[in-house]
Amino acid sequence: MCQKCYPATGTYPIPKKNILVLSCIDLRLTDDLLHFLHFDNLTNRYDLVTLAGASLSGLAAGERKHLFTNEAQTKYSFADWRTTLDEHIDIAVALHDIRDIYIAEHEDCGAYKQFLTKETLESTSEVDLHREFALVLGKELSKKEHVNNKGEHFHLSVHGFYIDLRGNVTHLCTIP
Ligand SMILES: [Zn+2]
Repeated sequence: MCQKCYPATGTYPIPKKNILVLSCIDLRLTDDLLHFLHFDNLTNRYDLVTLAGASLSGLAAGERKHLFTNEAQTKYSFADWRTTLDEHIDIAVALHDIRDIYIAEHEDCGAYKQFLTKETLESTSEVDLHREFALVLGKELSKKEHVNNKGEHFHLSVHGFYIDLRGNVTHLCTIP
């Protein structure tokens, strides 16, 4: 296996409990995502939710919907996508007591190109655009207080990552 570049030790706290991974549906990077999760000591310790565009699709019905094309807004039920994400996070807390979410963004994302306006796509660099969306969704997801089956109250930590087409991983953000 080739050596991949991953975030340096200490960049963010490695999750000690189970997590939920939100990734894009993109078929080119499923093995690379798996390798990275193994690297972070998360083998078989994650629930996996995939939505086209990862963080992007979680935000398409919210305050930032003006960044999306009218065509995409008409064609897809983005509010339902967000409900699906939120409800699966609740199920993951109930079933597996997750404490962290990994948002896995990636290079050359077809959903970004399809859903966002030209102005949005050209507003900043590709990585920074993914960082911005991961950060906004991460803040929203970490805001909610969860209660597990033991009656413990907590907020989820959210970590954003960007995987390039060679499988190298950049850390985008961690909340809190
Ligand atoms: Zn994608």
